[in-house]
Amino acid sequence: MPNLLEGKTALILGVANKWSLAYTIAEAFRCEGARLALTYQGERQRETVEALGTELGAAQVLPCDVTQDQDLQVLTEKLGAGGHGLDAVVHSIAFANRDDLGRPFIETSRSGFLLAQDVSAYSLVAVARATAPLMRDGGSITTLTYLGATRVVTNYNVMGVAKAALESSVRYLANDLGPRKIRVNAISAGPIKTTSARAIKDFSSVLDFVAERAPFRRNTEPEEVAGAAVFLASDLGRGVTGNILFVDAGFQIMGL
Ligand code: NAP
Repeated sequence: MPNLLEGKTALILGVANKWSLAYTIAEAFRCEGARLALTYQGERQRETVEALGTELGAAQVLPCDVTQDQDLQVLTEKLGAGGHGLDAVVHSIAFANRDDLGRPFIETSRSGFLLAQDVSAYSLVAVARATAPLMRDGGSITTLTYLGATRVVTNYNVMGVAKAALESSVRYLANDLGPRKIRVNAISAGPIKTTSARAIKDFSSVLDFVAERAPFRRNTEPEEVAGAAVFLASDLGRGVTGNILFVDAGFQIMGL
């Protein structure tokens, strides 16, 4: 069977380190033959992400703070200058103040609420607008979400509300971009130990809870999330848009 992403160029935003879901996704995309472009948030992360980019054989490693319109404009120009166009985008980015994840949701500050929305939800809209013009022959945009968007998950708080906005944005973007053959989907991943996840208070008890109760009686592997991302970016996913695809050891089906 030929590689699923042979001949495709993919932009992956959100590689911070080897534990990032974006890193495992980038590895899987590379294995399937994709040409990769990665981004890093700012100077602080440049060296690390450039080194990871070299390991992954990335063709481009570019700066992009998703809260900065100027960065997104430069990203479009630099990707466009490569002349390869774009076939797939993976948006694997989120941020909230640690304080807002640790106290009752009702105490969320206005600024903390807006920050979480800006980085974790609006950024998908901004990234889609910046990259869609490069998808001249259609394409796929995939983001990462979590069950806390639709259910109350202890300590997920402001991030759950941001993920709800993100999931709704997926549907509106899918409708806007469908006529241009650009598909927009989200993967709802089960909890996985990463740098962002560690910011959530008592995260290890979430992992234990899921491992006890999910149909698989274990947690989600990052490679399972990456497999779904490959599917969505590949031609096998050509009929799928506006979808939230759960890759969570089945946990989301459970009631009492
Ligand atoms: P991660 O490695 O910490 O990835 C989060 C990424 O967001 C980092 O690369 C971070 O860059 C980036 N980021 C934050 N603010 C940014 C900004 N203003 N501009 C550009 N990039 C920015 O953690 P992860 O768990 O892999 O998270 C990836 C995605 O998966 C997130 O959307 C997360 O909510 C989602 N997700 C995770 C889990 C889980 O349990 N791990 C489950 C479901 C969904 P810096 O480090 O440089 O700030």
